[in-house]
Formats: sequence, structure tokens, C-alpha cells
Amino acid sequence: ALVIPREPSVKFPRDHPHLFNLSDNLAFFSRFPLLPTPKPKVLFVLGSSGTGKSKLAVSLALRFAGEVINSDKMQVYDGLHVITNKVTADECAGVPHHLLGGVHPDADFSAAEFCCLATTIADEIVARGHLPIIAGGSNSYIKKLIGVDGGNFSRRYDCCFIWVDVDLTVLDEFVAERVDKMVEKGLLEEARGIFDSAADYTKGVRRSIGLPELDKYFRREAEVDEAERTAMLEEAFGEIKANTCRLTRVQREKIRRFEVEDGWRLHRMDATAAVVRRRELGGEMVWEETVVGPSIETVWRFVGG
Ligand code: ATP
Repeated sequence: ALVIPREPSVKFPRDHPHLFNLSDNLAFFSRFPLLPTPKPKVLFVLGSSGTGKSKLAVSLALRFAGEVINSDKMQVYDGLHVITNKVTADECAGVPHHLLGGVHPDADFSAAEFCCLATTIADEIVARGHLPIIAGGSNSYIKKLIGVDGGNFSRRYDCCFIWVDVDLTVLDEFVAERVDKMVEKGLLEEARGIFDSAADYTKGVRRSIGLPELDKYFRREAEVDEAERTAMLEEAFGEIKANTCRLTRVQREKIRRFEVEDGWRLHRMDATAAVVRRRELGGEMVWEETVVGPSIETVWRFVGG
């Protein structure tokens, strides 16, 4: 005769005696080889000076629970906020930034020290469940980080590279305009504050573009008349612009070599239109559509994949 059980034959899941037997469960699962644990992910935002990489890093950090590790070799030093163009507290928008200051201006902070600190900080960020975003223009730091110890960093972490690129002639104009704005924000006073007639411009923060160019002016400003002071300042500001434009070219070439010679897969975001149209009413929209949007898609694929 057909027996219809009054109770389900498998009591699931609450009262099943074996489900909560830890040693049985461990014995069962240990029969299977362990699946490889996925590598922690680290995002890099590369780009020449003035391309908007710091701003992009903040936008991405806000969307992907990121924390920024600065990789600009002059911004790791204390002070010189205007001259080195550090992000302000407002621009950080609450996103934690690491290695932005903290090093004594006279210290010679090496690429090896950067690698050591950046790795420790990246581990801490990952432990907090956040995404480390390494952003800055000093490509020798990035090259050392990825290439050092036979590529230790790139073996430990899954890396994704975003490259913010701007046509260089367009960038020249933007950089010149930015130097004028830095002057308005107090570049001269900041430089005077660190001026020292015995200064060595090959060490520490004094290597920053903006300091050696003003050296002659500070040495002579007390001895010359108003007209000559103005002429000397114009000359110094012109040199700062020219040296920054030269820097953007060198930086771009180094990034291009990562792709061409080292074979790194870079996700290039062309921010030229956003820079050209920055003063227009919808300029910010152009930046969002041509740079932020495609970058979000790239990071989304990276963190989801
Ligand atoms: P290099 O090996 O030539 O130093 P790098 O890739 O390590 O190159 P860059 O960021 O290209 O580093 O810096 C090169 C130089 O550009 C610095 O030594 C400094 O003179 C100047 N520089 C870089 N960043 C800044 C900055 N934020 N403000 C002012 N000057 C800067």
C-alpha cells in the first residue's frame, strides 16, 4: 500500500543533524581542491600634468568606494600646495588621499620608498574592502612599482591602467592658463616662503617646477626697481610655463612607452574635447561624457570581472 509520510523524509535545513556538524562539513569540503582566491584589484590613473587625472581619480573613488594613493613625486612632500597643484580638501570630496604630503621638504624620497609605502597602503585599503586608486604623473614611480622585484606588485595585484590623454598643443594652452591661476592663488608667496639662498634645487621638494625659475628674482628683487621686478617676474612665469609644457611631453612619452615597449594594456581616455570646451556652459558635461563615463565602464568591467 502507498504510504504517505506525515513528515517530510528530509528535514531541511534547520533540524537536519549533519548540516551543523562542523567536522563532517570540513571533511566533505576538503575533498575538493581549493579554488584560487582572486587577486586584489588596484586601479591606476595615469596622465601628464594638467590632464585632470586627480579629478577623475576622485570621481571613480566616489563611485567604487576607492581611496587615492598619490604618485606625484613632488606632491608627496609637505607644503607647496599651490606650486605642486595638490588637490584641495574640497576637491577631495571626502575621498581619503594617501601620500599627499607627509614627507619632509628636504628629504630625498626615493622611488623605492614610494613602492614600499604604496604597497603597504594598498594592502590596508584592500583590507578595508576599498579599491586602491594610484593616481599621479610620476611614471618612474609606477614603472618601479610594476617592474620591481621581477614584477612582484603585478603578480600580487590585478592592475588596471586608465590613461587620461590630451592633445599636447591643447594642453600647452591649458597649462599656461593654470600657471596664471597659480599666480593668483599665491605661487609667488609660497615660493618666497621656501626660498633659501643656499638652496639645492636638485634635492627634495625644491626640484618642483616653480622654484628654480624664481631663484634669480628672489636674489635680486630688493636691488631693482619696479619695472625690472615686473620684467623679471614675467620672465620667470614664462619659464615655469615652458618647463611645465616640456614636462607634459616627457610624461606622455613615458606613458606611451608603457604601452608600446612594456606591453601594458592602457585604457586611453581622450580628454581633449573636455579641455577645449572647459569654459563653455556644458563643459563639465563633456568631461563627464567623454572621460568619466567611459572610465566608469572600464572600472566596472575590471572590478566585476
Ligand atoms: P624623472 O625621472 O624625470 O624625475 P618621473 O616620472 O619620476 O620623472 P615626473 O613626475 O615626471 O617624475 O617629475 C619630473 C620632474 O618634474 C620633477 O623632478 C619636478 O621637477 C617636476 N614635477 C613633477 N611633478 C611636479 C609637480 N606636481 N609640481 C611641480 N613640479 C613637478
